[in-house]
Amino acid sequence: MKVGIIGAAGRMGRILMEATLANPDTELAAAVDVPGSSLIGVDAGELVGQGRLGVVLADELEKVVRDADVFIDFTVPEATARHIEVCRAAGTRLVIGTTGLDDHQTASLRAAGEDIAICFAPNYSIGVNLCFKLLETAAAVLGDEVDIEVIEAHHRHKIDAPSGTALRMGEVVAQTLGRDLKECAVYGREGRTGERERRTIGFETIRAGDIVGDHTVLFAADGERVEITHKASSRMSFARGAVRAALWLGGHDRGLYDMQDVLGLAGDSAGWGR
Ligand code: NAD
Repeated sequence: MKVGIIGAAGRMGRILMEATLANPDTELAAAVDVPGSSLIGVDAGELVGQGRLGVVLADELEKVVRDADVFIDFTVPEATARHIEVCRAAGTRLVIGTTGLDDHQTASLRAAGEDIAICFAPNYSIGVNLCFKLLETAAAVLGDEVDIEVIEAHHRHKIDAPSGTALRMGEVVAQTLGRDLKECAVYGREGRTGERERRTIGFETIRAGDIVGDHTVLFAADGERVEITHKASSRMSFARGAVRAALWLGGHDRGLYDMQDVLGLAGDSAGWGR
């Protein structure tokens, strides 16, 4: 399958190119980054230390959108919103890893899923997606008898908070418990907060150093607590999952999917398409 990478010069973009080149079923067919970048025109292979591949970094998705069967986009929300429309117009499949999309951008994503196949996940690692299932089980068993907190840590360059993964973890738990996350989420605490309300779901964010991504969901009762933790130590875990999603999308012409669908873990909750 011919794969194109958008945001190819970024932290994830470079590793996504490595993962595409390493997978025997995928071929790196296009690479795109932001107009004005000093790397535009550079051979993509040289960006990842693999010599010349004959694929140069383009400055507009429009110029190369027909060169690949599927594009993988890990950029910024405003750019991803535009790339969705470009892929929709060209009929090209899209895997999206960008986090921090607002409600309007998410709505246009859903609309585009009526015409093209899209996979959108806040976290493409297999371990995190397994954690989403474990969280459903924990929330269903522990119910309203526990206080629930989501704690996440990322590197100092991350521009959105809480992480898309932390929010999805909160959504999975809230949905399982019949709560609306928009109403029950509490983001950070400071000053005279009063006692904790049982039905809230708290989020705490740490930004420091080069942490790739840690997430813990804490279920605390009187006398015991359960913690479900995932720690990513390499971005390759996200990249391999995104390439797997790209290959899986090849079997679909339209629809909005997430990594739970790709891994066959989709249940009643947690998915965008459901
Ligand atoms: P980064 O800043 O290192 O890379 C982003 C790249 O996008 C840069 O090279 C930038 O030039 C490029 N870009 C910006 N605007 C563009 C445009 N209009 N057209 C083309 N390219 C454009 O960031 P990163 O750490 O690689 O993370 C990128 C995104 O991926 C973030 O939203 C992050 O939260 C998300 N992320 C998701 C997962 C996941 O599994 N879903 C994992 C890690 C990171």
